[in-house]
Amino acid sequence: MPRKCGGCDKNAILKRPKTGDALCKECFFWAFEEEIHHTIESAKLFSPGETVAIGASGGKDSTVLAHTMKILNERHGYGLNLILLSVDEGITGYRDDSLETVKRNQQQYDLPLTIVSYEELYGWTMDAIVKQIGLKNNCTFCGVFRRQALDRGAMKLGANKIVTGHNADDIAETVIMNVLRGDIARLQRCTAITTGTEGYLPRCKPFKYTYEKEIVMYAYFKKLDYFSTECIYSPNAYRGFARAYIKDLEKIRPSSIIDIIHSGESLSVKKDVRMPTQTVCTRCNFISSNDVCKACVMLEGLNKGRPRLGIGKLHKERRKWEEELEEQSKILSNGDGTTPLCCGGGKCGADGGGECGTDEGGECGTDSGGCKN
Ligand code: SF4
Ligand code: ZN
Repeated sequence: MPRKCGGCDKNAILKRPKTGDALCKECFFWAFEEEIHHTIESAKLFSPGETVAIGASGGKDSTVLAHTMKILNERHGYGLNLILLSVDEGITGYRDDSLETVKRNQQQYDLPLTIVSYEELYGWTMDAIVKQIGLKNNCTFCGVFRRQALDRGAMKLGANKIVTGHNADDIAETVIMNVLRGDIARLQRCTAITTGTEGYLPRCKPFKYTYEKEIVMYAYFKKLDYFSTECIYSPNAYRGFARAYIKDLEKIRPSSIIDIIHSGESLSVKKDVRMPTQTVCTRCNFISSNDVCKACVMLEGLNKGRPRLGIGKLHKERRKWEEELEEQSKILSNGDGTTPLCCGGGKCGADGGGECGTDEGGECGTDSGGCKN
């Protein structure tokens, strides 16, 4: 006897990974979409009239995100102006192919698409960066630049918010990674559904409680057009271990992903723990927790042929460069000792517009959008 769907009279064709419910296709689609609607409503993620940029990489998460955002916007009358925003990192054989998928998605979902590229923003492609720095730390560069590129693209489009396809599995992995690294600052904010409220553009994760397995199932049964090849430069090291560890935990305790997220949400940081303070980059005026933001440091390193400048918090290369900067700023500031906000020379990639990036590490996977590394 075929099993009946838990939501209607039809036969069930799948078992939901999250709840174990046996459902037909239509009831699964409805449950999946309405849970995301519930997440959006409970966290009051959007207000009517807002322009929301969907970070679109062509991968399964962002494709399903664009699809469900469009459905929910229409079904529940959110009143949002949705746009697709993609970042071209300049990775031949990977991003060029995935961007073709995004272009098809643009037609399929009838949403406007904007693509910003590292080459046009920084004068560097990831192919060129990897040629200079090799395959170690490439994701740190890529993550910092992507975060800034998304912000700059969204600001150019007049967006009020950015949404990314980070799912429950990604967030649980990030909690574990931050615990293992002892990174209290990131641990505190990595479970937040909205980040960046202190900066220029808030970033939201409507899939915060959505399981990866269900996203794959949804894309499969809806026959969505997505790209599933891994980046050719992906080292997959630390995150890969966290992922394998959680998969093992899930075998013993199926609720592990949600349990880890809840644990992360419930952690509070002791008052005497020193947290990074938010300030603005003295070069580009963008939000940063150091005098010079990580994007500016990295770009300077690349342009000077000293790429290690941007890696590690207190690397001696960086200290040396900061001393040089101090000297420069004394000259540039007409001798009054204050540093000009932006050099305007476009070296930091900000074109003097004060839009340079933040200090998010590329490997945090929390909210750089697109890639999970
Ligand atoms: Fe960039 Fe992701 Fe590729 Fe690393 S794996 S180089 S972060 S796209
Ligand atoms: Zn900067």
